[in-house]
Amino acid sequence: LGCFLLQTVPAARAHDEALAWTPASPFRDELRALGVGALIRDDAEATALASTDFGNVTVAPAAAVLYPSCPADIAALLRASCARSSPFPVSARGRGHSVRGQAAALDGVVVDMPSLGRLGGGSSSTASRLSVSVEGQYIDAGGEQLWVDVLRAALAHGLTPRSWTDYLHLTVGGTLSNAGISGQAFRYGPQISNVQELDVITGLGEMVTCSKKKDADLFDAVLGGLGQFGVITRARIPLVPAPTRARWVRLLYTGAAALTGDQERLIDVERGDALSGLMDYVEGTVVADEGLIGSWRSQSPSSSSSSFFSGPDAAARFAKLAEEAGGVLYCLEGALYYGGAAGGERDVDKRLETLLRELRYARGFASVQDVSYVEFLDRVHGGELKLRAAGQWDVPHPWLNLFLPRSRVLDFAAGVFHGILRRGTTGAMGPVLVYPMNRNRWDSGMSAVFPEEEEVFYTVGILRLAVSEGDLGRLEEQNDEILRFCEEAGIACVQYLSYYADQAGWEKKHFGPAKWARFVERKREYDPKAILSRGQRIFTSPL
Ligand code: FAD
Repeated sequence: LGCFLLQTVPAARAHDEALAWTPASPFRDELRALGVGALIRDDAEATALASTDFGNVTVAPAAAVLYPSCPADIAALLRASCARSSPFPVSARGRGHSVRGQAAALDGVVVDMPSLGRLGGGSSSTASRLSVSVEGQYIDAGGEQLWVDVLRAALAHGLTPRSWTDYLHLTVGGTLSNAGISGQAFRYGPQISNVQELDVITGLGEMVTCSKKKDADLFDAVLGGLGQFGVITRARIPLVPAPTRARWVRLLYTGAAALTGDQERLIDVERGDALSGLMDYVEGTVVADEGLIGSWRSQSPSSSSSSFFSGPDAAARFAKLAEEAGGVLYCLEGALYYGGAAGGERDVDKRLETLLRELRYARGFASVQDVSYVEFLDRVHGGELKLRAAGQWDVPHPWLNLFLPRSRVLDFAAGVFHGILRRGTTGAMGPVLVYPMNRNRWDSGMSAVFPEEEEVFYTVGILRLAVSEGDLGRLEEQNDEILRFCEEAGIACVQYLSYYADQAGWEKKHFGPAKWARFVERKREYDPKAILSRGQRIFTSPL
């Protein structure tokens, strides 16, 4: 039980290998004796599913899977593990959208969080774990709930959360364990900055309701806490009156300096630039040789076309612009909300007019679509369906996500977008995101790690798929090369949705001395036996 070995296996084999594994279940009888309403399975089918994830790069076989019917089932499981001289690992698994086994529990028990919604309250159980208070302007959401269901429940009352991820089929507990970022974070902060209260079950099996006012240390620990301090079973998310529609804008740029300069003007909500606050959502992508504009993340939900920039001569115009720009283009992606609580169409037209006049994009390369608010927020789902149909959703995803200080983003662009990414990855698909956020919307008391030295920092998401034989190895090598480049160039980046092979990596490369000391102290307080989320490879033995 104490040993922790996460193997990297060729993707096609990952699921088969997990299936072939015969569970040892050394604590099968103990699990059966828990006396909970939960379902417990240790057959190969159940454990195989819980042993791999979206990344499809690693396999870490679990001994059993707990399908809880209520939070008390999870508390009982954690207390049973705690009571052993050799505690077994327990990991909450949302939808397993991690990419490196972070939600796995090698030789331990994976808690299938969606069961809380399915088994928890009769036929309308999902609805019963999503409860909107119109008066209080908040929603109480079970930790297992998907953000897309949170959206639907809130919109039924004309309300909406403010901060999102680009993909909504992620769980509330899963994204709050990381940070939860998207193009609204510049204004409202990440999702972890938009929580009023949590119900948490600590590694000791204690059920605690916490907030900034009550048990604030646990609250701060759990938000961005990588599942290390407790299982989130409920989150109270503030709501605001919802818009009904979005103008979805794409603008092509021929250089990183122009793109980032414009992005920074748009997110500068404090100092009042002419452009500040004109967009409600600000992101950006790197458009390299493969023409990432047609990539899965960029699909228009209501369009059969695979690209926003379509038309008879679009490809030729695009190729000419790319050639002029030296092979790398950038795309600023933005949205302006309107309708409902967000003002009328005339106002949005005026805002758009100002933007198209002021922004420094390549003239003639603007695309504007008018979609519903829901279509805009749930836009990545359309891409998912298309990739699934093409058999390209369950392929390996050797993703690399980084946060880097504003002052080094152009150095990063020169070395990585114009250098490393342009070599030897023919056929590799997937978006490369780049967009800034305001540091003051993040709370440094919480566990999430982000660059704190400058007012603005960037996220870069290199979200590629390994489609052909050999891609995975090549892309992983390239990720290593990018990290080496940053180290050698002195670009102080940290990973988001991080992966480090061992504790030393977390301590030295991720947290640094002060934050590491606090993280360890909190672990000692809330999960001293290091039972929770060992798949993150941070703590593998009791403290
Ligand atoms: P899992 O992968 O199941 O779990 C993630 C971690 O959280 C694990 O350590 C797990 O043990 C822990 N955990 C899960 N549930 C709980 C809980 N209730 N309580 C405590 N710990 C828990 N992220 C962004 O920030 N922005 C994006 O725009 C974005 N887009 C994405 C698009 C796609 C297609 C995918 C696959 C991922 C994207 N992500 C994004 C990453 C996403 O935030 C992470 O994958 C996250 O882990 C959520 O996935 P999940 O809910 O399936 O959690």
